Amino acid sequence: MAYPIRQIQQTITPLPVIEGAGVHLIRSIATQTLDYLDPFLLFDHFGSDNPEDYLAGFPMHPHRGIETVTYMLAGAVNHRDSLNNVGTIAAGDAQWMTAGGGIMHEEMPRPVNGKMEGFQLWVNLPARLKMTRPRYQEVKADQIPIVQRPDGTQIRIIAGEVDGIRGPVKEIAADPTYLDITLPAGAELQHLVPKGHTAFGYLFEGQAAIADSTYISSPKLVVFADGDWIQVKAGSQGVRFLLSSGLPLGEPIARYGPFVMNTRDEILQALEDLRKGTFVYRSQD
Ligand code: MN
Repeated sequence: MAYPIRQIQQTITPLPVIEGAGVHLIRSIATQTLDYLDPFLLFDHFGSDNPEDYLAGFPMHPHRGIETVTYMLAGAVNHRDSLNNVGTIAAGDAQWMTAGGGIMHEEMPRPVNGKMEGFQLWVNLPARLKMTRPRYQEVKADQIPIVQRPDGTQIRIIAGEVDGIRGPVKEIAADPTYLDITLPAGAELQHLVPKGHTAFGYLFEGQAAIADSTYISSPKLVVFADGDWIQVKAGSQGVRFLLSSGLPLGEPIARYGPFVMNTRDEILQALEDLRKGTFVYRSQD
């Protein structure tokens, strides 16, 4: 073989979960089947034609030790936080939030033309950055480059690089790729992911064959084994999927709800900081 195609390591059917103040969503990472896919801690797909499934949203809550990545297909998420940021993540926008040493925020999904759909991915931070200064990278839809190929393939680059074009999200410890890929019927994609990086695909429309598998129907999360190339061939309806990769940390994790640290003592510290009102990151300078 000229080069190693990454095989399917695991195929996961998302599980229905109720999160926040009563948001119905489907979850593929952070379940009994797949607790942690280093460096990815959680992957949720939310959206419904019934606003009662999500309007209660995610009222003010803390995060520490991680990054949360929100990417919207339809509708919007209104947010505000302890850094005095206020804004809206609209259809096609992405928000890469580094919670670092502590942030409190609110995330409230809202319909637009009756629709609301999006994804949230949690990316772990290495021990040396768990208590770093919080920050946002907010990317509007028109700042996300789109690669169009002659076969009709369309790739939106949130993070990482395709055909020499780099996405706008930068300086993330996991050296991530985060792509929204649409393949028309029968089209085939090959994408190089550095050896040793963790990679998964999340099929959310249509069907695809992966590494010459039989056709897999959405919604499904596919974990790739190590290797070089991701190979995806669209089925007769085409396929749309997210492709995500990142450098595994190989560190111990202690997780408790919205906090993910290295040790149980650090989790207890987070809870104590919340009680004492010292949770939110304060600049040392
Ligand atoms: Mn949150």
